[in-house]
Amino acid sequence: MDRNDYLILTGQTESHLVSYDEQFLIHKDILKPFKNLQEIIFEKRKCKLEILSGFRSFDRQKFIWNQKCKGKRAVRDNNGNPLDIEKLSPYELVCSIMRWSALPGFSRHHWGTDIDVFDDHNKPEHIELVPSEYQQGGPFYQLSDCLSELISADRCFDFYRPYETDLGGVAIEPWHLSFKPIAKEYQEMITLEVFEKFIAEKEFNSIELIESVRENAEEIYYRFISP
Ligand SMILES: [Zn+2]
Repeated sequence: MDRNDYLILTGQTESHLVSYDEQFLIHKDILKPFKNLQEIIFEKRKCKLEILSGFRSFDRQKFIWNQKCKGKRAVRDNNGNPLDIEKLSPYELVCSIMRWSALPGFSRHHWGTDIDVFDDHNKPEHIELVPSEYQQGGPFYQLSDCLSELISADRCFDFYRPYETDLGGVAIEPWHLSFKPIAKEYQEMITLEVFEKFIAEKEFNSIELIESVRENAEEIYYRFISP
């Protein structure tokens, strides 16, 4: 793995990205398949597939993470209710944050291949980004159901849902799509050895609770990072 791979994987370069809708950056190779997907979803259900979040940089993810560590942004339990972080050990806090937010340097949103999507034709005043919005009765149910149908028929232009089932690591995210041909390559590069090497880099020193991450690297890797 070379320096450029390290920068792409950890969200520290924009060299592989293009602008979408002048609002989001996404991997240059997903623009066309995404537009194809938009079209088929509109034809089938009259839903307007749009992006809520595309590329997210290392610094942006670090900002979110550090705010959660300092109690300036809610850390949630498995049911989505806010936790009293004072009662948690550093490692418990790391694991609680990682249910809902990636460790900076290891968000799939760093790659540009992964996007959070919603239906712009059925947009409520405020999007919470919770599973119920994508389930029956929720505003994005039609979109989500259409995506499920296309994915299982292998007609989703190589997009899939990496957080489809809850195995105790990252919680279910029906809104999160990933462009498999490229994302799979990136994912496979992040072995345990690579993970340990990355978190030892100096950029990671400014991440809150990084010492706890380093001490529990193997367990964190198998629960939250590895495929
Ligand atoms: Zn996402």
